[in-house]
Amino acid sequence: MVVAYFYIWVRLFLPTIMRAVLKFGGSVLRRGRDYLKLVEEVRKFLDAGWEVVVVVSAIKGVTDMLEQLARPCPAWREKIVELRELHERALHEVGLPSSLEKEVMGKMNSLLSELYRAVEAVNTLSETSPKVRDYVLSFGERLSVLIAWAAFMKFGVEAVCLTGREAGIVTDDKFGEATPLYDVSRVYVNETLGRFLKARVVPIVTGFIAGTIDGRITTLGRGGSDLTATLLAALLDADIVTLYTDVPGIMTGDPRYVKSPLVVPRLSYDEAIACARLGAKRLHPRTFEPIRKTRVKTIITAIGTEEKTEITRDKSSPPLKLVTQLERVNIVRARVSERKLADTLIELALGLSKMGVDNLPYIQYSEFDQQVSIIAREDVTSKTIQILRDLQEKNLTRDIEYIHSVSLVSVVGHGVQDLGNISPLLASIRGITVQTLLMFDCAVSLAVSSDRSIETLCRLHDELVKQWRDAYS
Ligand code: ASP
Ligand code: MG
Repeated sequence: MVVAYFYIWVRLFLPTIMRAVLKFGGSVLRRGRDYLKLVEEVRKFLDAGWEVVVVVSAIKGVTDMLEQLARPCPAWREKIVELRELHERALHEVGLPSSLEKEVMGKMNSLLSELYRAVEAVNTLSETSPKVRDYVLSFGERLSVLIAWAAFMKFGVEAVCLTGREAGIVTDDKFGEATPLYDVSRVYVNETLGRFLKARVVPIVTGFIAGTIDGRITTLGRGGSDLTATLLAALLDADIVTLYTDVPGIMTGDPRYVKSPLVVPRLSYDEAIACARLGAKRLHPRTFEPIRKTRVKTIITAIGTEEKTEITRDKSSPPLKLVTQLERVNIVRARVSERKLADTLIELALGLSKMGVDNLPYIQYSEFDQQVSIIAREDVTSKTIQILRDLQEKNLTRDIEYIHSVSLVSVVGHGVQDLGNISPLLASIRGITVQTLLMFDCAVSLAVSSDRSIETLCRLHDELVKQWRDAYS
């Protein structure tokens, strides 16, 4: 008892050190000067006494270039030269004294030679594999952390570069879309990064790439740097994780299509998960999974703005937050025997994840017509149908059918369950044929033909923003 009181008193008077994971996406890393801005942002936290882990993506567009190099490609030598020039230019723009610049350039060149050898092998053998692809794709982030490191040196801030695996993130060997193994990673990450944080050295970790237990490079799927950041935040029990992008938060609608979108100030984790899965802002669908049940607060913002989206565990108003769209998806459906419903859903989920289809946005079951619907990306539709056929052989499903290539326009917000909120939105799209409507906890999704999707999105968005204005003015 006495010991407990003593502990509480000591804790009260000890200054608590706050911990942040700050992730800088490719959209804010276009040239050398962006890395200087990154360091300025990180310094604000360091100066306020925070412990900071930095996660960086590849420079904008680089992963797309590497995708081309990961398979046989006639102009591969020219593309590597292009990559070299792009990174050299960025490094030079950081403006290190020339001896230091040479040192970093040396490290960069040895990475580029490694890449050259791998791509040469792909072209000599005219062959690639998911493992090779992950290896080739990893160079974007590995080159990017070097430039970030140079920028930290320029400001005299002590930092260290680490790949995701070196930082301690261990995954399974599902190359292309690997899943982190939490228990091992927790131990490794705390051991490795904890040591640097204690010594006030900033770890700069490659987003997107990690590794198997025996050290082979894996990737977490395109856009996976967000997941690296949230994962590290969860494993390190951080106070916040901030994802810096080129827009100041999650918007009420895609700015490329809708009129005057607003930044959504607050979302719950469940709403954010629905957004990520249903297409908002190209967030990795699993971004929020590691932190959903933790106390970590997520912030999505741009550098140098006060505007932001804050994601926490609490529900907030307004009840409807935003509209999103997913293009070219298929909806696969089958009837399920009610008596064996639980078995069927479990087998279905297991089958999907075993075949590497667990990144799907959603599975929905409708009690009314005893039908299960799966929103399937084009590349996983045939696998999904195969799983349902296997279940059919066990008499668990029947009447398999699918709706081909539709756009899924969704309204996200915990208030979708309330007809009073949602009916004005549905009324706003009168005249547009909705092929199917799927209802989830935090979202309602409408499948419409691709040529009407933007119109649907815009009409829903106008109505949603009108509801906001009515509520707040
Ligand atoms: N560079 C990777 C990609 O473009 C990962 C990321 O940016 O999140 O997909
Ligand atoms: Mg991204």
